[in-house]
Amino acid sequence: MHGDESTATMALLDIFNFLSADDNFNKLRKQILSELTIYFIPMLNPDGAEKFKRRNGLDIDLNRDALRLQFPESQILKTVRDTLKPKFAFNLHDQNTRYSTGNSYQSATISFLAPAFNYKKDINEVRGNTMKLIVNLFEELKKFIPGHIAKYNDDFEPRAFGDNFIKWVTSSVLIESGGWKNDEEKQFIRKLNFISILTGLNSITNKLYVNADIDVYKSIPFNDNLIFDVLLRNLKIKYKNKEYTIDVGINKEEINTKDYSKAYYEGKVEDWGDLSIFYGYLDLDLIGSEIKESKIYKITKMNLKNIDTKKLLKEGYGFIEVDSLDKNLEFTDMPFNIIQKGAKVDLVPGYKKYANFTIWKNNKLIYNVINGYVYDTSGEIFKKHNGLIFR
Ligand SMILES: [Zn+2]
Repeated sequence: MHGDESTATMALLDIFNFLSADDNFNKLRKQILSELTIYFIPMLNPDGAEKFKRRNGLDIDLNRDALRLQFPESQILKTVRDTLKPKFAFNLHDQNTRYSTGNSYQSATISFLAPAFNYKKDINEVRGNTMKLIVNLFEELKKFIPGHIAKYNDDFEPRAFGDNFIKWVTSSVLIESGGWKNDEEKQFIRKLNFISILTGLNSITNKLYVNADIDVYKSIPFNDNLIFDVLLRNLKIKYKNKEYTIDVGINKEEINTKDYSKAYYEGKVEDWGDLSIFYGYLDLDLIGSEIKESKIYKITKMNLKNIDTKKLLKEGYGFIEVDSLDKNLEFTDMPFNIIQKGAKVDLVPGYKKYANFTIWKNNKLIYNVINGYVYDTSGEIFKKHNGLIFR
């Protein structure tokens, strides 16, 4: 139902392939297919999915339309539920990739929830069965990602579908795909999703959930919000002739190009100061190092292809200024930001600004941070990431 939450859609296609395959899992698939009747809605919000955005065509969050049921997508979902009256449902979403498993440095890669059906968060049979099924999923997934499984906020949301499914007496399991280090395209998380759904189908087929212990569900830690994409600790910064120590937290947001054909990342300083309670997917203690501005390298458009990337990175350049620029260019595949001559660019590192700066230790450049990507200048091979355009 959320157009930019596509991990489970991929996993459902994997489930289709699994169910139609012919291999040494034949016993399991035959059992599932003979015992259960399964219906799938692989994509409830195609207009949102087309633009990789959460909301539908009118920018309505469909997960707040379960009461009014005004929008065609919501009406389809409600009609399907009321027609089929399923005993179980899987409500599939993606959550913030920066959620942590409780107060820990470990990302909440998969989070589950048996949604509440009232503000008191009572547990009836429908919700209890949801919890029990989740216990089976949790115990299976624990073999693959111990410490990376959490529970989504269980506050009652009267307008959400998951909560109402429980009210409408369908045990609905919320599965949220979160973050995993260096899995931006979520292809590992897709597998975890596949395992979760298949484990669920097996549990329902063989009634394994019946004997599960609800206390195990209760013991799953809640999501917390303690992770940055990058956390640079204990950097010195000079301000008005005084020196301070700060941690810098950087997050990278995925941005669609105007025609939705490509995506790129924008890295910003999300927060800075004392961030000692937080963690980073990339987490560096840079004690004794100092943060400084990066530099602009000026050339003409003609020789942009001939620049020595490695040399410029090692010399602390973060920007390349060119005379003229293709006016349709929205980002660059180069590791540098590109400035069109005459454009004003703020080079001073700062809160909520683009993360472009250099890091020095004993007067030696050790890291060049460009658009939130951290280039180790002692390295010989640089994985290229995208830069931004300033015009
Ligand atoms: Zn969602």
